Amino acid sequence: MAFAVPLRTRFRGINVREGMVWRGQHGWAEFAPFADYPDAAAVSWYRSAVEAADVGWPPPLRDRIAVNCTVPAVPPEQAGALVLAGHGCRTAKVKVAERGQSLADDADRVAAVRAALGPGGRVRIDANGGWDVDAAVTAVRKLDRAAGGLEYVEQPCATVEELAVVRRRSQVPVAADESIRRVEDPYRVRDLHAADIAVLKVPPLGGVRACLDIAERIGLPVVVSSALDTSVGLTAGLALAAALPDLPYACGLGTAPLLGRDLTGTPLLPIDGALTVRTVEVDDALLAASRADRPLSDRWAARLAAVRLLADRAPTGQDQRL
Ligand SMILES: [Mg+2]
Repeated sequence: MAFAVPLRTRFRGINVREGMVWRGQHGWAEFAPFADYPDAAAVSWYRSAVEAADVGWPPPLRDRIAVNCTVPAVPPEQAGALVLAGHGCRTAKVKVAERGQSLADDADRVAAVRAALGPGGRVRIDANGGWDVDAAVTAVRKLDRAAGGLEYVEQPCATVEELAVVRRRSQVPVAADESIRRVEDPYRVRDLHAADIAVLKVPPLGGVRACLDIAERIGLPVVVSSALDTSVGLTAGLALAAALPDLPYACGLGTAPLLGRDLTGTPLLPIDGALTVRTVEVDDALLAASRADRPLSDRWAARLAAVRLLADRAPTGQDQRL
């Protein structure tokens, strides 16, 4: 069934998160490739859904996953308040390098977040590729001081090549997020020594097992993040976080509160800064409330059929090189 769920705030240029959910013998699956993923790239999203529905996930090694709260590019007072209301998260991810704002704005926000978290919390920043190399090196130095120590900087610049230079010129660890969108991307980040940490999202990388394989082959610590999934999709991220041999950082899976509605009566909301590793059941009434209208349902049915056809033709792992 196709769904359309409103977002509380605009993200990635969308106000409504659309996708499909279905149930297989192992549980519920979510298939929700963003519109900018062509069908060939959406094959990974499909494989991830098939794994959830029909295969199931490897056994968990832990039962709780620490998650970060996210602080958008808001004024300092609001930033501090968000941390205090942040489901007990001890790690805060602060958005920086917002267009129209200054480095002083970023520094004030980061300092407010540190004050709200106290010395024991961790502060990471996310520039979403918003700086060039020189701006990144300057900003990271200043924000590291303002934060009393940054855990890492996520995607300071847009390209993998730039990340590699920033990483060499900066003391603060670099995490690659937008640089890892497709199955082949993590290896490029590794080969160019462009990051200290890899942010992995299960659906675009082809499933939990595919991500475990990537994590092993790139040899970098992983932060598991959401693709703005509903709680159904988030359970796949949780399964990956639970199955990774090492999980040194809080994950970006506390995103269910970003949705105006969810598909389950037991959404994955962080408690004391962590999510419990579990699955969810879709609630019929909630699914009915989020049911896509006819044209949208038809569009998603057609998309699924096209992607499934490609998946059936392509050998596993080769999809992205078609
Ligand atoms: Mg990010």
